[in-house]
Amino acid sequence: MEQTLVIIKPDAINRSIVGDILSRLEKKGLKMIGLKMEHLSEEILEEHYSHLKDKPFFPRIQAFMRSAPAVLLVLEGNNAVDVVRRMAGVTHGGEAQPGTLRGDYSLSIQNNIVHASDSTGAAKDEVKRFFKTEELHSYEKIDSTMIYSEDEM
Ligand code: ADP
Repeated sequence: MEQTLVIIKPDAINRSIVGDILSRLEKKGLKMIGLKMEHLSEEILEEHYSHLKDKPFFPRIQAFMRSAPAVLLVLEGNNAVDVVRRMAGVTHGGEAQPGTLRGDYSLSIQNNIVHASDSTGAAKDEVKRFFKTEELHSYEKIDSTMIYSEDEM
């Protein structure tokens, strides 16, 4: 099954909506296999946002992402990368569809509540970047027979 990385960003922590976000992802049927809180370092953010490193707003993103701890999450499920990306919504919270996390909780292009891996390749790299192997948990979830049909498991 596919794995994807979610970062619940400092704006969500400050706005006390971490529980809501976790609840929405859980209720979708996604399985949490890794979960922790961490104050992200400059180095890890430079690696994670390397595609934005030359943008004039990069220092602002970095300051925002370091302004409070983040909650890091690895989710597993069929097509998890695409599913979570669509649950997150487009980058700008003010443009994201209602019903998405960004669409329901954000009006900002920067303070947009969550990060979600944008491809299976990126997900593999990002899970490795933020989680040690021993921080990921393998277990049978008892509701999986209700979430998937037999041929989907
Ligand atoms: P996404 O998070 O939707 O994959 P990007 O990878 O383009 O989007 O950007 C990473 C993060 O950088 C965004 O989620 C947002 O927090 C921030 N960001 C992107 N573009 C801007 C911008 N023009 N101004 C400020 N922050 C931005």
